Amino acid sequence: MNRTTFNERCGICEERKERGIHLYNFFICTECEYNIIHTEPREEKYNYYLRKLKNINQPTLYS
Ligand SMILES: [Zn+2]
Repeated sequence: MNRTTFNERCGICEERKERGIHLYNFFICTECEYNIIHTEPREEKYNYYLRKLKNINQPTLYS
């Protein structure tokens, strides 16, 4: 069996994880994705995640 695993560094926890999602050039592991979704905006963690997510290089919109 030829199985390829992708070990990418998560942009949130900065650990190498096999599973996750890509947001532009940003990789978020499934655990962090879950944490972000289940964090309330009033929690301190939420600002931490927001700051991390701001590092995403969004593609330039051409108009
Ligand atoms: Zn992570």
